[in-house]
Amino acid sequence: MSAGGCLCGAVRYELRGASTSVTYCHCAMCRRWHGHVGAYAAVDRADLVLVEARGLKWYASSPTVRRGFCVECGSSLFFDEAGDAKIGFCAGTRDEPTGLRSKAHIFVASKGDYYAMADDGLLRLDAGP
Ligand SMILES: [Zn+2]
Ligand SMILES: [Zn+2]
Repeated sequence: MSAGGCLCGAVRYELRGASTSVTYCHCAMCRRWHGHVGAYAAVDRADLVLVEARGLKWYASSPTVRRGFCVECGSSLFFDEAGDAKIGFCAGTRDEPTGLRSKAHIFVASKGDYYAMADDGLLRLDAGP
């Protein structure tokens, strides 16, 4: 059983199906929300089951996207885009071993000016996928 949660335990989830690989988002919104680059994987909506949600709150970061976080400890957890068959979860919230692989960097053209990107062999996209 794949599972994950926030830093304090007030949000816990289980994954009942396979996850996508991890995408690293360098856009300004993700950098603010995570404190740095966002790392996301996704599962089919029906495969994400919340087993503890007392700390979960949603922030609408755009008309079509809401981001789920823990009000108790501040962890960022979920990326939910309207109309998408999958729901994203923040890779760092998964319990280990995660079995996750890395796939790509996105929004590289709007990355922060405070870090360099070493060539790690992953796909790089200037904007979204
Ligand atoms: Zn928490
Ligand atoms: Zn982003």
